[in-house]
Amino acid sequence: MQDKILNGRALSRIVEAEVNEQAGRLCQEFGRLPKLVVILVGDDPASSVYVRNKELSAERAGILHETIRMPKDSSEADLLAAVAELNADDSVDGILVQLPLPKGINADKVIEAISPEKDVDGFHPISMGRLLAGLDGLAPCTPSGIMEILDHYGIDLKGKKAVVVGRSNIVGKPAALMLLKADATVVCTHSRTVDLAAETKEADVLVVAAGRPNMIKKEMIKPGCVLIDVGIHKTENGLCGDVDPECYEAAAFYTPVPGGVGPMTVACLIRNTLKAYELRNRR
Ligand code: NDP
Repeated sequence: MQDKILNGRALSRIVEAEVNEQAGRLCQEFGRLPKLVVILVGDDPASSVYVRNKELSAERAGILHETIRMPKDSSEADLLAAVAELNADDSVDGILVQLPLPKGINADKVIEAISPEKDVDGFHPISMGRLLAGLDGLAPCTPSGIMEILDHYGIDLKGKKAVVVGRSNIVGKPAALMLLKADATVVCTHSRTVDLAAETKEADVLVVAAGRPNMIKKEMIKPGCVLIDVGIHKTENGLCGDVDPECYEAAAFYTPVPGGVGPMTVACLIRNTLKAYELRNRR
């Protein structure tokens, strides 16, 4: 089974090393290192873990980072003011507001307030629009990480049937667009899809981002398919994804949970920070 694993953790270390090398080189040209600032509102334990992972990745990649912790009763106006300050700070290259935000704060409004050139999460409508138009830009990190995994392991997408389960702005929708750009024939499914198994069984590449623990069962996949599991859930028995491990045997390749898509999401965030830094400095 080992040789079927698409090892996102190992690949993330390669990406971080590349960023480290490039950041060091560009620092000589621009006179400073790239800097990522994360805003964390409240004390959600899962969000705190995700933010810590981002800090650790930034450290491995040799880029500067700062986490601004705001109390959970912060208002939308407080958060918008913090974003405005970071937009105006020339030493900051990447701004990330950790989601989800406490009730009462409109996440769309906050995302739109981030300067598009510092939008390292790639969620700003301008970043999304560039992706839709097939233009270069700061693309969302999870689907970028998925594409990087597929590319690194030499998985040919041309003419292949790719099925995406989930249509969120963060994962499903941009993943479908990226797979389409890579010449796959793409079906994007969601909670109103009438016969999900009929769709997933056709997939040469199945990307699952539904947020439903172990929902993809072995009878729902095509033997020899490539399984990309975005889901991550804490259970009594540890972490699991959206793909039931019973599927692994029939698959040609699969991303494990943990150690698959998650670390590559973070590495792509760090790489987006480097990209934002270089673009801003060459402007
Ligand atoms: P959302 O809840 O925003 O979206 C889930 C999507 O799945 C929706 O489009 C929903 O459809 C669809 N869906 C839900 N149930 C079903 C079903 N039974 N059949 C078909 N489609 C279904 O989640 P996210 O996209 O933000 O995240 C998905 C998962 O990925 C979560 O477990 C999350 O924790 C994880 N995640 C992991 C990351 C990583 O780095 N590993 C990064 C981001 C997310 P509809 O639109 O109709 O409601």
